[in-house]
Amino acid sequence: MSPAPSQNESISVFSVDVEDWFHILDIPGGPPISEWSALPSRVEKNFLHLLDLFSKHRAQVTCFFLGWIAERFPHLVQEAVARGHEIASHGYAHRLVYEMSHAEFYEDALRSRSMLEDLSGCPVLGYRSAGFSVTEASPWFFDALADAGYRYDSSVFPAARGHGGLESSRRSPHGTAANGQGIFEFPVTVVDLFGKPLCFFGGGYLRLFPYWLIQRMSRRVHNEGRPVVFYIHPREIDPLHPRLPMSPSRRFKSYVNLDTTEAKLDLILTQFPVTTFRALLEKTHGAVVR
Ligand SMILES: [Zn+2]
Repeated sequence: MSPAPSQNESISVFSVDVEDWFHILDIPGGPPISEWSALPSRVEKNFLHLLDLFSKHRAQVTCFFLGWIAERFPHLVQEAVARGHEIASHGYAHRLVYEMSHAEFYEDALRSRSMLEDLSGCPVLGYRSAGFSVTEASPWFFDALADAGYRYDSSVFPAARGHGGLESSRRSPHGTAANGQGIFEFPVTVVDLFGKPLCFFGGGYLRLFPYWLIQRMSRRVHNEGRPVVFYIHPREIDPLHPRLPMSPSRRFKSYVNLDTTEAKLDLILTQFPVTTFRALLEKTHGAVVR
């Protein structure tokens, strides 16, 4: 007898980490926050272009705004709300979790949530860390998020990787017992290929792998009863954005296939119905609005 279909069968969530081209992490030549304002921003044009792509497909997505971006481009938050998308937080200053103290992390997470709620007029329930940088070194992570007023997180990479990664974490969405309130975790989607856990569904991985493989791996995840979490950054549909100095291997990872990413997103949105984290949380756990 075949197993009963899971609630998550064939569900995909689409998410955008709303930041600029100079927010690539952990490179020695990366500009500090004190220099960001002087750099030529490309996020407005690129994010509005993504919103048009979502409108074409009648897709509603989760937009994890960097607080620093939302502060400078409040109309981008408001335009996303007007088009029915979910506003969530990517923190304020794009710092790696494992480089912050518990108190610094809490302040950053609270600051961005408060700002995004003021700008959007909506409750902000979700958080995604810079670089999926949750590790064993930040055991306070879920408690701090709950204290800062969040209800769910999508920051855990459930395998080894460059920035962070929690190899011990479950691959399916699950609840955590943060401070007795609970934070629901939607991990980055990984799936085994040749015995190795890999992500095909966002950032450099999505740019690198051909669409047929992304499609096949997405179906495998759905067959395992898990939702697929897609993610993208606005700079990834902008082949002409300025480049930061970095090593050849990072350069490849950061800039490979920028010119084919939009067409790939178009195919994903054509073939996979997508939703927001908030809608998925409400579907699986009832009303979550504060
Ligand atoms: Zn980021």
